[in-house]
Amino acid sequence: MHRLLLSALLGLAAFAASAADWTTPAEAAQFRTTPSYADTLAYLQRLQRAAPGVIRLETFGSTPQGRPMTVVIASADGTFDPAAARAAHKPVVLLQAGIHPGEIEGKDAGLMLLRDIAVTGKVPHLLDQVVLVYIPVFNVDGHENASPYHRINQNGPERMGFRGQAQYLNLNRDYVKADAPEMRAWLKLWQRWLPDFLIDVHTTDGADYQYDLTWYTEDPHKLDPALSAWQRDAIVKHVMPAYEKRGHLASIYLEFKDGRDPRKGIINFGSGPRFSTGYAALQNRPALLIETHMLKPYANRVRAVYDLVELLLEQVGAHPAALLAATAQADAATIARAHDANARVALSFEPDPQPTRFELKGYAFTLSHSDISGSEWIRYDPRTPKRYTIDNWNGLLPGVSIAPPAAYAVPAPWTAVIERLDAHGIAYRRTARPLTIRAEGYQLDDPVWASKPFEGHLMLRDFRLRAVPREVTLPAGSAIVPLDQRAANVAIELLEPQAPDSLLRWGFLDAVFEAKEYGEPRVVEQLARDMLARDPALKATFAQKLHDDPAFAADSRARLMYFFERSPWYAAQNVGAYPVLRLDAAAWRQLAPSATASSPSQP
Ligand SMILES: [Zn+2]
Repeated sequence: MHRLLLSALLGLAAFAASAADWTTPAEAAQFRTTPSYADTLAYLQRLQRAAPGVIRLETFGSTPQGRPMTVVIASADGTFDPAAARAAHKPVVLLQAGIHPGEIEGKDAGLMLLRDIAVTGKVPHLLDQVVLVYIPVFNVDGHENASPYHRINQNGPERMGFRGQAQYLNLNRDYVKADAPEMRAWLKLWQRWLPDFLIDVHTTDGADYQYDLTWYTEDPHKLDPALSAWQRDAIVKHVMPAYEKRGHLASIYLEFKDGRDPRKGIINFGSGPRFSTGYAALQNRPALLIETHMLKPYANRVRAVYDLVELLLEQVGAHPAALLAATAQADAATIARAHDANARVALSFEPDPQPTRFELKGYAFTLSHSDISGSEWIRYDPRTPKRYTIDNWNGLLPGVSIAPPAAYAVPAPWTAVIERLDAHGIAYRRTARPLTIRAEGYQLDDPVWASKPFEGHLMLRDFRLRAVPREVTLPAGSAIVPLDQRAANVAIELLEPQAPDSLLRWGFLDAVFEAKEYGEPRVVEQLARDMLARDPALKATFAQKLHDDPAFAADSRARLMYFFERSPWYAAQNVGAYPVLRLDAAAWRQLAPSATASSPSQP
């Protein structure tokens, strides 16, 4: 009897031990492999069942291949919705993994960290003052498209996901144009939560060096001063020193000027609003890009992400008011800017020509001539750590800047533009009846497109732009976009032609460059004769052009078009007239009462 009871108890203990085995799938595989999406969700569902007051799983979208997109909401006291987070003055941190699914440390680190918050009691207080919104795999279809051959530069796990989603789009170039269903779902999640801080987890490509992790935040010139001050204090002054105390070696993001010789210095990798951190900047939110180093063992890379995210959450949780104050101040400053007649907004950024010095903890390397490439072949020697003092050109300065209007007017027929305003949660009003307005427009000439597609678009590379006054009748249903809103910088990026990710540059308005009516050559022959007879100056410039431009002189069609394009028959087509208009404060005030509100609500 006694013996039977004992064995029954031992059996129960064994059962309890296996039920309490919270080893994650990657840990169980000694980090040789990373789990499938189904196994990832199964583990998260187990966590939710064990700690339903701490962890909640939600579906926030569906992929092109029909897979659910899962987000985990985690909070010590069950603060699972944005209104409750705001009421409790808890910052919301959005942590995302697998936007590039071959770079998947953030998923495996996230499972371990959630376990240690929710069930093992290792870091039970991490989410007392923070709400964590965690996307374990952003590009789910790309994650399931796994192969040993997707990332040649990287040291494990055995199979890696593919950078593109099922429509071959790179989600980390899609933030502004928002083509992918995954990005549309992310934007809705973003607007619902309006996170106070974004952490985006990747793995590098590029050079070999000692650091196990590099990181990037947007340049202070792209951010409200309150946000860059928060980033400097929280990340640079507090979290990174604590991270290195744990035995890690971290560096700012390392983009080498010349991949074949690290001694030539580092440059800013470019970023911009199409990337996660650049988009967060437009939305007045600080953001951190984490890049573990691809050649370190996968276990070390997962541990690197675990430790850094833990320290970041600890920092935010220890000073929640500091982050909330910074994001609130940035939003308020953007709204207030609408009433500043002297405001300027930078659309592009140039490298600061003045470098600083940077100490690179690298490796010795050799350069040899390659008869394959005909160039230099760099080979690192990771057994020989070596320090190099090099130039750092990461600093940026504002490039092209504009005076923001009080509001933009998007005529109703430009549905693709209005639809993007909706995707980004930009507030606007629809005009209730046709309205004739005077506003500033742009005339765009000499367009040049890229010769190859980029992310499914032939981008508009170059054009000439001049501001012109226009009188336009806006049809009913046109969108009036005031800039006294917190997401004003997103509207500016979408609608100012010169912005690097403007809808014009992505090709959504290419048709404005097309003449739809033409003149038959036999008809234009007479038109040209009539114009030359009337206009001696035109006669002189035409003769000069024939003399100076042999290709033109040899092109009979171009010679006739020279006259057609200078005629009223061409001018009437408004070729190159940018349809979006810029309203000044007076025009906006005059228009506001006749516009009816029908815009998405803005938190
Ligand atoms: Zn990446």
